[in-house]
Amino acid sequence: MVRATKLLPEVKSHYGDLQNYVGGAWRTPHATEWIEDTNPATGRVIARVPLSTKEDVDVAVQEALRAWDVWRETPPLNRARYFFTLRDLMERHFEDLSRVVVQDMGKTIDEARGEVRRAIENVEVAAGIPSLMMGYNLEDGAGAGIDEEVLYQPLGVFAGISPFNFPVMVQFWFWPYAVATGNCWIAKPSEQDPTAMQLVMDLVQRAGFPAGVVNLVHGAKDTVGAILEHPGIAGVSFVGSSAVATQIYAKAAASGKRVQAGGGAKNVLVVMGDAKLDKIVSNMVSSCYGCAGERCLAGSVVVGVGDVHEKLRHAFSSAAAALKVGYGLDETVQMGPVISEAHRDRVVDFIDRGEQEGAKVALDGRTVQVPGYDGYFVGPTILDDVRPDMSVARQEIFGPVANLLAVDALEEAIDVMNASPYGNAATIYTSSGKHARDFRRGVRAGNIGINVGVAAPMAYFPFGGMKDSFFGDLHPQSRDAIRFFTESKVVITRWP
Ligand code: NAD
Repeated sequence: MVRATKLLPEVKSHYGDLQNYVGGAWRTPHATEWIEDTNPATGRVIARVPLSTKEDVDVAVQEALRAWDVWRETPPLNRARYFFTLRDLMERHFEDLSRVVVQDMGKTIDEARGEVRRAIENVEVAAGIPSLMMGYNLEDGAGAGIDEEVLYQPLGVFAGISPFNFPVMVQFWFWPYAVATGNCWIAKPSEQDPTAMQLVMDLVQRAGFPAGVVNLVHGAKDTVGAILEHPGIAGVSFVGSSAVATQIYAKAAASGKRVQAGGGAKNVLVVMGDAKLDKIVSNMVSSCYGCAGERCLAGSVVVGVGDVHEKLRHAFSSAAAALKVGYGLDETVQMGPVISEAHRDRVVDFIDRGEQEGAKVALDGRTVQVPGYDGYFVGPTILDDVRPDMSVARQEIFGPVANLLAVDALEEAIDVMNASPYGNAATIYTSSGKHARDFRRGVRAGNIGINVGVAAPMAYFPFGGMKDSFFGDLHPQSRDAIRFFTESKVVITRWP
């Protein structure tokens, strides 16, 4: 394992006490509790995050409701124009946004650029709202001389609660569509890395969005509780772990809100004997170790089918061991730290547990050191001879740990996947169309990769999992998002 040694400058070393962005202005929240936000590579505190109270949430909702009165009357084309301006500002600050993501979340600069690019793409797609939001009609649809049409209308104020692993992109799976369709938005980013959304709100303000249309409220569990209970919020978009997603889905529905809630994942990469190993190994390594395994689309279990296992273990281990671990602002680094000390301990604990349950540690990242940095690093790790019943094969680790498992046939691999409570993503590596088709048809997962390790759809496609990886029906992004953020109205017209 190669290690980075060079210390790098940061965008800004300290953001101080964060404020909420509410009603078009930065406001000090009523919070009495604050938590520290650290740079995962250095362990240094970069901001203090307020745990906003019920009162703070209420102020944001009242501002958003006031703004909605005017925003809903703003023609779609005019609403779209704010997004054109925002897009230009995001392009201009592309590098700043990417660097803030690195220093707060820990991923590499290239991964952060990929994330910010995906966020911009959602702005670009949402700017097409005049076409996306059109209804439809049928002359004589309800009888001779009686016409029928469908209109889509906004519902009010929506809130978005996002996880730490994509501190910019996940909010953009939702809010451009919510706001372009004529709703107002309250963003509640992860308390573990909220500084990138501060920068986003600066750009929102500079893009000229009317006060109260887009708001930012910092906080954690209790702030989310206040959002879920608030009668002025029409719906909630959530992404995070399955345990929390389950609660969000139930609580939001209980208070009569629309809800879409993405949960955790345990994604499987299946390698058939007919796969071209030399062409797929780097793709698999990037799936398992990209963003230090902290991606909901990360490969976590690698299943070799038939006699491919021995060759696969060798090729995969050599490529994983060569990854350069370090601070993501160094352009040559290929894998950064995990988000926090507590999360590093959790990942290491999983590796220990895998070993105790009988897996062989074929590559051990537990003791990795990055000279000059005191952050939360875990090196790429491989557990071999894993069985499907082991905890490391069943539970989400969300770290740079790949579990290697061998089965005799594709059907067995599909059974392993379908027995999992998760269903976010699954990949097959093969050169057989028949295997690919059987896999695509048989696996219960929302994102299928065929020779693609991270099956991440573009902004103009919906994104979401199945089973405990998604609660709700309409997914983030694209046409699903338009439907989620609007309600349909049927009008029947007769002129006697
Ligand atoms: P998390 O569930 O701990 O937190 C997510 C959000 O919920 C945060 O904003 C947090 O403040 C809030 N929250 C935490 N506990 C809460 C509680 N008890 N009640 C109400 N709100 C609460 O998730 P995380 O650790 O930030 O993110 C990692 C998880 O997100 C992983 O499980 C990963 O698979 C998942 N994820 C899923 C997708 C997807 O598309 N399905 C995408 C990215 C991440």
